[in-house]
Amino acid sequence: MAHFCLRCGRPLVLRIIEGREVEACPDDDFVLWRDPKVATAVVVEAEGGIVLGRRSIEPGYGEWCLPGGFVNHDEDPAGAAVRECLEEIGADVELLELLGVYHVAKMTTSSIVGIAYRGRLAGRAAISAGSEMFEVGVFRLDALPEIAFPSHRQVLAMYDGAAARSASPPSATPARPTPPRTR
Ligand SMILES: [Zn+2]
Repeated sequence: MAHFCLRCGRPLVLRIIEGREVEACPDDDFVLWRDPKVATAVVVEAEGGIVLGRRSIEPGYGEWCLPGGFVNHDEDPAGAAVRECLEEIGADVELLELLGVYHVAKMTTSSIVGIAYRGRLAGRAAISAGSEMFEVGVFRLDALPEIAFPSHRQVLAMYDGAAARSASPPSATPARPTPPRTR
């Protein structure tokens, strides 16, 4: 696809800058840097499990995913995560912890740097499907449906890891051996 200089409108040409092939203006110093987009995903804890939504839009139409989405240019990522939760699962969510950062590499569109949070429903908030969801539901971690995106599966693995670390703090006393199971 042809791109044009944002300063002078001329067609960009390929140049090598800092060892990368980039599109740049032949007449001035404009370079079309391909930056990643920033997204968030939130593991929202609720009574009985975590909240997922079933998507009514592509990508991932008809499949389940975590609430989250792209960060607007003027938003703090945590604020964007809370906004996306309100839009997608219809609930006020309180963020509790940064789970980690993930990366989705793409060739033809912008890659994504994702920021994953753990949160919980604020107060007695109820959940309801936003305009981009068919339905929302609370799922036990050991009974999750098929998750739409590999990146969201990665976030759920981060969440499992964080839960395991907080559930088993380092201890000086060895765990008691499990008695043999009797039939
Ligand atoms: Zn130019």
